[in-house]
Amino acid sequence: MTSLETIVSLAKRRGFIFPGSDIYGGLAGTWDYGPLGVALKNNIKNLWWQKFVTDREDMYGVDTALLMNARVWEASGHVAGFSDPLVECKKCKKRFRADHVDGAKCPECGGVLGESRQFNMMFKTHVGAMEDSAAVSYLRPETAQGIFVNFKNIVDVFHPKLPFGIAQVGKAFRNEITPRDFIFRMREFEQMEVEYFVRENDWQRAFEEWRMVMLAWCESIGLDMTSVSELEIAADDRAHYSKRTIDFEFEYPFGKKELYGLAYRTDYDLTKHMEYSSKDLEYFDEETKERLKPHVIEPSLGVERTILALLVSAYREDEIGGDKREYLAFKPSVAPIKAAVFPLVKNKPDLVAKAREVYTGLKKEFGSVMFDDNGNIGKRYRRQDEIGTPWCVTVDYQTLEDGTVTVRDRDTAKQERIVISEVAALFREKLI
Ligand code: ATP
Repeated sequence: MTSLETIVSLAKRRGFIFPGSDIYGGLAGTWDYGPLGVALKNNIKNLWWQKFVTDREDMYGVDTALLMNARVWEASGHVAGFSDPLVECKKCKKRFRADHVDGAKCPECGGVLGESRQFNMMFKTHVGAMEDSAAVSYLRPETAQGIFVNFKNIVDVFHPKLPFGIAQVGKAFRNEITPRDFIFRMREFEQMEVEYFVRENDWQRAFEEWRMVMLAWCESIGLDMTSVSELEIAADDRAHYSKRTIDFEFEYPFGKKELYGLAYRTDYDLTKHMEYSSKDLEYFDEETKERLKPHVIEPSLGVERTILALLVSAYREDEIGGDKREYLAFKPSVAPIKAAVFPLVKNKPDLVAKAREVYTGLKKEFGSVMFDDNGNIGKRYRRQDEIGTPWCVTVDYQTLEDGTVTVRDRDTAKQERIVISEVAALFREKLI
């Protein structure tokens, strides 16, 4: 298996992901995305939105505020209970998550660890000019509550029929005690979440449906499915609101860890928000004239854990002509750059002009296409391989004679000569 260091180093070297606040020595738990990272991330979020929202008829998208009224988090149970057990080393004063250390010794210096206590993971801030308790607000630790507080708005405006879902992609913040393992455990990250509202007697069917949707999603983006597994979470280990949870785990270089979660949240959140806001959040079925509180199935997906699992799934090493090669075998739909176009040499104006023309045509349709005339062809291929570009198109002397180009496939490193007018069709077919 690929080491985490290999992935971190490739991600930095090729402009995917950099440590946050890098020139100041970083800020633990934060990472910044470079041009390729942001392209990869946008592809994932867009594919998710398409599969979980646009392609369906029962979904409503929202984009809610990161800062929310503190009452939201009192109602949801986060103020009282969104905490991890913390232990501090009596010698070096470093802090650890109690359930992440083996035994009673400090993993850093071997000192004695103190008593475990609960540490709330929400980032607290003050809204407005007053720093009193009335002005306290929290950066949201999950996108879900933004959805619950908009449940009534969606129902009143769109009159959806049960079952239906509300979806959101956005940042979440958790003051993790020990952020680690690159972008696996961060303090600022993104989630892609659906709250799917059902009648109580329909929850098992809906749970199973979403379980299948999540597995299909993993496969569709190109995760190594032999590394994906499901774990039924025992009642004692489930979050306070859940009556059933399945974790989708991935075999990361540092072990098998949670990739996504699927939870049956019952009517816990709507009940709590009714109680705390004194607003009627019941659903009225206009056909049966029934009033009810819908129950909720929640598929929750982390963007960064997806990116890390994708990098691990796609990383390959092989040899071409006796030279070692590293490449990312991304699916074309996920790849940050879909294709690169090269003129064989850069000092022949008619070759460069023709290559520019091919480039412009492809860019118009596929967007993230790159033009590269630096160094020799071999080096250009290697650069594109390392960032996972599926195809390299080379314009050479023969192009000027018969209108054909070579298209090189990243995975096989084989070149095919085809007429320019057919290049787009080839990409289109494989991009689906
Ligand atoms: P863990 O047990 O690993 O702390 P969790 O069970 O608290 O995770 P959830 O509350 O279920 O996580 O959050 C839903 C999803 O959000 C997770 O499946 C994961 O993909 C993502 N996620 C949660 N915490 C983090 C984090 N600190 N950094 C990156 N992604 C995260």
